[in-house]
Amino acid sequence: MTKSVDQTVMKEMNRSLALDLVRFHGPLSRTQIAQESGLNKATITALINELLAEGYVKEVGRGHSYAGRRPVLLAFEAGAGYVLGIDIGVSHIHFALTDLSARTMVDGQVAMPDNSQVSTVLDVCVQAIDECVRKVHDADLKLRGVGVAVPGLVDYQTGTVLNAPNLGWRDIPLRSLLEDRLRLPVFVDNEANVGALAEKLFGQAKTLSDFIYISAGMGIGTGIVMNGQLLRGVSGIAGEYGHTVIDLQGPKCRCGNRGCLEVYASVRALLERYEKATGRAVDFHTFRAAFLAGDEAARECVQGVASYLAIGILHMLHALNPSAIILGNELGMISDWLIPPIVQFLQARSLTATHAAIDVRASALGYDSGIIGAAALAIDQHFKGAVHTRAPLR
Ligand SMILES: [Zn+2]
Repeated sequence: MTKSVDQTVMKEMNRSLALDLVRFHGPLSRTQIAQESGLNKATITALINELLAEGYVKEVGRGHSYAGRRPVLLAFEAGAGYVLGIDIGVSHIHFALTDLSARTMVDGQVAMPDNSQVSTVLDVCVQAIDECVRKVHDADLKLRGVGVAVPGLVDYQTGTVLNAPNLGWRDIPLRSLLEDRLRLPVFVDNEANVGALAEKLFGQAKTLSDFIYISAGMGIGTGIVMNGQLLRGVSGIAGEYGHTVIDLQGPKCRCGNRGCLEVYASVRALLERYEKATGRAVDFHTFRAAFLAGDEAARECVQGVASYLAIGILHMLHALNPSAIILGNELGMISDWLIPPIVQFLQARSLTATHAAIDVRASALGYDSGIIGAAALAIDQHFKGAVHTRAPLR
């Protein structure tokens, strides 16, 4: 049985196809867009006219031609709109105002309020966003939406934070709370999912369709991309590898279980190891400086954490068979030292040579993957037309 596809839906799909070609592969001529998309020239001409009128596409000179007129080239206009990204971390909240290519115009961070109470965090977000917007000095700033990254389980369709153990948040309707305050479309997702999205759109994974992004910060999250799409699972909360139990009798995790991977392989685990070994309680930046200066205890701690991270990655490879693992967030910043022992472990323990040859690489976005991810979420939703199906808020 064949289904007839609604004409409007078909047009949206074609428009999105043409725009994505210009966004990610431009500058291109109309003929090239027609060839690459498989759509006819008349359809492309009409779609491009629409995109030119809306300002998303611009003409940028002429291309090469062997005979006849040189074709007009079209490029994406990243300044046709702006989005706000909010990365809610355990210790800090980061903000950025970016263009539609996720290039940061203004950014900043504030310390997480002491009790991470939702109403206080909302106040902080609204104030910081106002400051970001003011700094741009553009009375006609076309704000398209807000993306929010949260370290926890998120129902991304409703924008509800179901459980963020590291913040002590449960069942928080963050999207509607922020929309009420900001009067802009808001999208909320897990920080590892948005990190994976950022890598796919703007980072290390542009050409990859099956990879796992590991956000290794105070906790451990994973954003899994399979067949070019985020793997969400039936309830939208797939990828909680940080809470796979690797020791039934292990230390208590913030999620309530014992012996979860993140108890052994996160930044928190690394810093606790270091404190146990040296008696010094330090933050990650101080730890990293000590490590880079050749501190022997710091080096041993990194080795220890690498082996646990490798166990986690081995589970991921055997379960999902990705083509690459991208290590991001804070531990991504010491990936030069983490990746070699991880690769060695995988080569020794994996089931097949294919698994052993896995490409483990550092995030291209480093510490910014959360905030770029949050912006990427808003950009992605904007171009997917999610805002068109909702009443404009302002
Ligand atoms: Zn846990």
